[in-house]
Amino acid sequence: YSEEQEGVLQAYDWSAKLFHHVLKHTSDGKAGLNYLKKRGFEPETIEEFQLGFSPDRNEFLAAFLKGKGYKLEQLAEYGLIQSNNQGSYYDRFQDRVIFPIKNHQGKIIAFGGRAFKEHQEPKYLNSPESKLFHKGRVLYNFHLARKHFQKEKEVILFEGYMDVIKAYQAGVYNAVATLGTSLSESHAKTLKRYVKQAVICFDGDDAGRNASFKSANILRKAGVEVRVAYIPDRLDPDEYIDRYGGEYFKQKVLQPAQTFIAFALDYYKKDYNLNLDHDRIAYIEKALDIIATSEYPVERDFHLKDLEDAFHLNRETLIEEIEKRTSRIK
Ligand code: ATP
Ligand code: MN
Ligand code: MN
Ligand code: MN
Repeated sequence: YSEEQEGVLQAYDWSAKLFHHVLKHTSDGKAGLNYLKKRGFEPETIEEFQLGFSPDRNEFLAAFLKGKGYKLEQLAEYGLIQSNNQGSYYDRFQDRVIFPIKNHQGKIIAFGGRAFKEHQEPKYLNSPESKLFHKGRVLYNFHLARKHFQKEKEVILFEGYMDVIKAYQAGVYNAVATLGTSLSESHAKTLKRYVKQAVICFDGDDAGRNASFKSANILRKAGVEVRVAYIPDRLDPDEYIDRYGGEYFKQKVLQPAQTFIAFALDYYKKDYNLNLDHDRIAYIEKALDIIATSEYPVERDFHLKDLEDAFHLNRETLIEEIEKRTSRIK
């Protein structure tokens, strides 16, 4: 880090300590603390993730940092505080629960601010991109999760940091989340250096399913094996854990996560009307494309058998088609 950046990191650290103190020990923080309790956060979790609260005041953090001798102009460049065009500075995260965002070395480089009142918009207010905070490169909780990658050879990938924290409370430590963007090639390359496999566990709505497919392809391209978990009833991981508990989450969601091939075969069905002959044929061609991407003969055979049975096809034809495709891939 440059000298300037060392200073900014230190200011972020002070800010997180202040917000954490406000949450735990002041009347300003009461509402935030109640919100977190209501959402099932345990006191140890609040400590581990250094959660905090930014009070409903214009210049709370700004005054604190100014008092510590920081140049507010510089901190504004890094999104820690906000400047207006009159050259004065004010707090960015007023009246929000604060989730510090750490880089992969464990240093705080940004904040996420969660609204906690009805009609308070937007739901999340995050720090802007800065020279220290690149959303396309950083993964939430990576610095803690990395210690568990070796043991598990696996990372769990969530959409939100709420999900990461709820899973952590349930004893799932090898989990990370992107920060309001989709998974990037850079994220995937980073993960490839640590794990063999990723389990994608996004929200159970259509958006989550589409994002799962997109992220899965990026991960596979980087050489990470992928499985995709399914959460029923359009719940997200944090809601599922609230409703059914951590053990159920591990047993019924993570453990039976589908292989990528099984997921993709199912995912593509939505594009075809399988009651129509020409759509059935087009789907079978698509299915063969997907199956051919598996590098495992047994896996290919397994799914070919399914196709053979489901569509009353001839074994030899299928094998011939797969051979055409694999020779093209190589
Ligand atoms: P909660 O349980 O508190 O509603 P969530 O993780 O379920 O949180 P989602 O709406 O599923 O929230 O969004 C997932 C992630 O997308 C969030 O963790 C956040 O990083 C990002 N995000 C969501 N809404 C916004 C927003 N308005 N601005 C910026 N980022 C957002
Ligand atoms: Mn969502
Ligand atoms: Mn969600
Ligand atoms: Mn949620």
